[in-house]
Amino acid sequence: MPTDAVIVWLRRDLRLADNPALFHAAATGAPVLPVYIHAPEEEGDWTTGAAGRWWLHHSLGALAGALQECGSGLILRSGESLEALLALARGSGARAVYWNRALEPALGVRDSRVRHALQGEGIEVREYPADRLFAPDAVRTRAGAPFRVFTPFWKAALTSGPDLEPLPAPPILPPLPGNPATLPLEALALRPATAWDSGLRAAWRPGEAGARTCLGETLAEVAPAYARLRDRPDRNGTSRLSPHLHFGEVSPRQVAAGLEALRAEAPAAAPGAQALLRQLGWREFALHLLHHFPETGDSPLDRRYDRFPWRETGPALDAWQRGRTGFPLVDAGMRELWTSGWMHNRVRMVAASLLTKNLRIHWLEGARWFWDTLVDADLANNTLGWQWTAGCGADAAPFFRVINPVRQSERFDPEGAYIRHWVPELAALPNRWLHAPWTAPGAVLREHGVVIGRDYPAPIVDLRASREEALAAWRATVQNAGR
Ligand SMILES: Cc1cc2nc3c(=O)[nH]c(=O)nc-3n(C[C@H](O)[C@H](O)[C@H](O)COP(=O)(O)OP(=O)(O)OC[C@H]3O[C@@H](n4cnc5c(N)ncnc54)[C@H](O)[C@@H]3O)c2cc1C
Repeated sequence: MPTDAVIVWLRRDLRLADNPALFHAAATGAPVLPVYIHAPEEEGDWTTGAAGRWWLHHSLGALAGALQECGSGLILRSGESLEALLALARGSGARAVYWNRALEPALGVRDSRVRHALQGEGIEVREYPADRLFAPDAVRTRAGAPFRVFTPFWKAALTSGPDLEPLPAPPILPPLPGNPATLPLEALALRPATAWDSGLRAAWRPGEAGARTCLGETLAEVAPAYARLRDRPDRNGTSRLSPHLHFGEVSPRQVAAGLEALRAEAPAAAPGAQALLRQLGWREFALHLLHHFPETGDSPLDRRYDRFPWRETGPALDAWQRGRTGFPLVDAGMRELWTSGWMHNRVRMVAASLLTKNLRIHWLEGARWFWDTLVDADLANNTLGWQWTAGCGADAAPFFRVINPVRQSERFDPEGAYIRHWVPELAALPNRWLHAPWTAPGAVLREHGVVIGRDYPAPIVDLRASREEALAAWRATVQNAGR
């Protein structure tokens, strides 16, 4: 029996506010059926990793609670998305499905298949732009091509003027019609079977309410000092909005509108607000690249790197993953990642550079590890970050610029607070020796009870020699490609 009910297919937009599909469905005045379909096989090669699944579990729980408070509920299904939507439409009599556009290529392909099939069944489909500030084709070079360099991309994007007015949450959602069947959240098996998630639980509050609190703290405390502190892993200098943005618990439009308001109200906070908005611009750039070069999730944008002589992985990869490289800043970052599911951006760059340049291990090995362990694992941003650091992406740091983990440590963790927190076996060492403990005189190490090779590893690679070898490999690759 057809009804006027509207199905809202929720995906990476796990929020009520500024959710165009939900807003427009509610505005019809018809009953709304919010559904989340667990379909990992539709995510292509990059199905959500372990930390992401943990987040998703809690975010779905929070969303179900928020929908209930509005008199509605979340319908959970699993399996093929098209089948699940058709079954829900048949069971409820709904003749319309609304959703917000997917950001990733594999999901975009899936969506257009689903749209055609639903329309073929006489079901109305409406898709809305959301979760990015600029439509993928809105920002182009004068010649009409996609951008490959960030600064001109961002300049062009800003002149095209994003729409910053977020939509309100629907004031009420009518109760679910017909009591449709829903799976219990546990049936999606997103949570780890063994309890390794205590660090994640201590660090995060998934869900829209947690995202709102995080945005509030960002605007009040982080944004004003962002330009000064954003590179300091020892300070709470960045927003930590990344997992909330990835799962769509907050929209980039809400963040940008908040920053814009801050800029207008507090001129002293303007440089910080502008710097943070620019960082959101990197997210837009990453989405732009993945949209126009969808193969780059697995292949370098700079195809000369197809023939780069990467090394076999071996024990070095294991040491890197476990935070036992002998370089304290890198080890602190890798342990922060393992424990909390997040790592500071500056340390991500340093850790990625050590892996891809000094150890010459393929950037995809690092990308896969981050994918499984980051709560904010995101195909566009992770691909950009890894290819940028490895030197094979758009607007990449040139290969010959090899980041020195000791210099970075001295510069960005000058008092060693970050290292002391995550690498406690070195905590007693004086600052002077903390960043490169293997260079400390034997007497200093003895005095502070540190034996290199026993309490803390010796460096797994010689920085200077490995840098020269990497540069030689790069020169050979570039020369061969020119032939
Ligand atoms: C090797 C490597 C891998 C990365 N993998 C991811 C990933 O999987 N997911 C992810 O969200 N970010 C990734 N980044 C980018 C960046 O490190 C994180 O977005 C940032 O650390 C998140 O912390 P924050 O929310 O406090 O950032 P803030 O500094 O507060 O920035 C605000 C938001 O802007 C966006 N942003 C900031 N910096 C970048 C950037 N360099 N590239 C793209 N977007 C950015 C994020 O959405 C972030 O939440 C990676 C960077 C590197 C070098």
